Amino acid sequence: MLYIGNHTTSSKGYAAMARQMIQNGGNTFAFFTRNPRGGKAKAIDPKDVEIYRALSEENHFGKIVAHAPYTLNACAAKENLRDFARETMADDLQRLEMTPGNYYNFHPGSHVGQGTEAGICRIAEILNDVLTDGQTTTVLLETMAGKGSEVGGTFEELRGIMDLVEKKEKIGVCLDTCHVWDGGYDIVNDLDGVLGTFDRIIGLSNLKAVHLNDSLNGLGSHKDRHAKIGEGQIGMEALVRVICHPALSGIPFILETPNDDEGWTREIAALRKAYTGED
Ligand code: FE
Ligand code: FE
Ligand code: ZN
Repeated sequence: MLYIGNHTTSSKGYAAMARQMIQNGGNTFAFFTRNPRGGKAKAIDPKDVEIYRALSEENHFGKIVAHAPYTLNACAAKENLRDFARETMADDLQRLEMTPGNYYNFHPGSHVGQGTEAGICRIAEILNDVLTDGQTTTVLLETMAGKGSEVGGTFEELRGIMDLVEKKEKIGVCLDTCHVWDGGYDIVNDLDGVLGTFDRIIGLSNLKAVHLNDSLNGLGSHKDRHAKIGEGQIGMEALVRVICHPALSGIPFILETPNDDEGWTREIAALRKAYTGED
């Protein structure tokens, strides 16, 4: 089964997101848990969640992928910024229990001059503060493009964080195709090699979701500028190989391409048409 959808707007609630996704031809989606710049989250309406659950069951949705605000920096140098990251993640995880068993992905952070090692420690520290035995959500570290002082631009850095996390069964990785390409992993000419490296360093069983994006820039550019599918330097063929790869079968593929719903509908249809999995 191919689970594919796009990052959609959460302001109207879960049922509206599911309806939009059905209209777009999707069966999973991603959304910001609150204003992407941070701030207070809207209260979740249990009735809205009930409608969403019914829609998602009826339409055989896969797991959905909540996204933390991208301003959150778990390895900021300033303590008040780390407090904000900790409080936001803890609050998000609590709220996500209204829709149990899904994913919560976040950008590990930027070490802003403290060095990668210090960054890795701080990120793990916050994860150790917020992860609980009772949670049913898996928290996903996103692979980053390595822009500026971003932590998570290499598989080794993600492994470094994971090694320091106590509740290892509560975490995983979300692979962003634009980010890994910009980070220097050649998924165009050597997808098997990149996934082999991922398996050796992180373990493919920890790969829980993919952000499916083309990239405006070249291999190793460390830029992080997403392009529409087939309109960047990764290209349609390579991205189709990603969705068809047996090692990635059954995980959610999320489009974060610069589109409107019409554009996502077209991309989802084209990718579904090209998909050659066994279903
Ligand atoms: Fe992201
Ligand atoms: Fe992403
Ligand atoms: Zn990005």
